[in-house]
Amino acid sequence: MLAASMPAARKEVKEVQNYAASKSFTGTIMPWDWSFYSDKLRDEKYTINDELLKPYFKLENVIKGVFGLATDLYGITFKENRAIPVYNPEVIPYEVFDEKGRFLAVLYADFHPRESKRGGAWMNDIFPQYTKNGEDIRPHIMIVMNFTKSTPTKPALLTFDEVTTFLHEFGHSLHGMLSRCNYESLSGTSVYRDFVELPSQIMENWALEKAFLDKFAVHYQTGEKIPADLVKRIVASQNFNAGNLSLRQLSFGYLDMAWHTIEKPFSGDVKAFEDKAWDETRILPPVPGTCMSTQFGHLFSGGYAAGYYSYKWAEVLDADAFAVFKQKGIFDKKTAARFRKEILEKGGTEHPMVLYKRFRGQEPSTDALLIRSGLK
Ligand SMILES: [Zn+2]
Repeated sequence: MLAASMPAARKEVKEVQNYAASKSFTGTIMPWDWSFYSDKLRDEKYTINDELLKPYFKLENVIKGVFGLATDLYGITFKENRAIPVYNPEVIPYEVFDEKGRFLAVLYADFHPRESKRGGAWMNDIFPQYTKNGEDIRPHIMIVMNFTKSTPTKPALLTFDEVTTFLHEFGHSLHGMLSRCNYESLSGTSVYRDFVELPSQIMENWALEKAFLDKFAVHYQTGEKIPADLVKRIVASQNFNAGNLSLRQLSFGYLDMAWHTIEKPFSGDVKAFEDKAWDETRILPPVPGTCMSTQFGHLFSGGYAAGYYSYKWAEVLDADAFAVFKQKGIFDKKTAARFRKEILEKGGTEHPMVLYKRFRGQEPSTDALLIRSGLK
């Protein structure tokens, strides 16, 4: 990843540097200049922004689109059932049925912010799937988000990032809902940390597919489908500065792994250790007096210690897995059935690489991710 990202990142820095110069900036671009000038450049290049896209993403339509994707892929269906008790009246409970109409799960969707509710987005199981005395106990799963509410005059309209977040959390919920395991401790999303983001991140790929967007992304006032040109610009803007973004993630992974592979108690200069650990990933000049090791929570807490690489690894997996859908068709039922049987149903009952190879027929490679992000 590093070898492919560095040349691209160098080109990007040059482009941003030239752009800044055209705006009468003199000197070398420093990390604190980077976002300012690269964001401006992105806006000029792709003329894309939240306000332009939001009218195509009315919440009710997005729900139909996201649930509909699970119906297209796995044949499962969703039925709102207000008789199911909820912890807050804003929560929408759905009964979920499999392709044969059998009860599969309860899904609670909690879409909007309110006082006392934590920010961000996540999936939880209220209880996971398991088997008890031969009986398959189906799970209760919740997905929680913080999308802007509708007003009396305007429906809830999502940003493109929010649509992606919805798909992501919904992917986790599929991992929980489609589980077919014996033990609670191994079912659903109870898998190794560097495998848990595959079912979620793979779903994000559909957001960049016109054939998927056409199923639900219509302008809430005019009913017009999202224009192809707009979708093209979304895709292009996603890959803007891909080299630098990749280097950034890699630098954290390298630093994390450097700290967690030392074998003796550390005594020395933390900053010097850090500089050495991510020297290969550095592209912009260092900022004197700053130190990531002492301020980046994921390095030593939050359960990530020695696991930061899993973000990048999950991208490798999701791009490699989605490449099969790209090849066979993004709604291909056979590929979906295999993904369901070999990965989504299995939880942590077998080693991730064993499961993955059964789905893919081979180990994952970085190719698909490099191609998707325009680095290859
Ligand atoms: Zn996730």
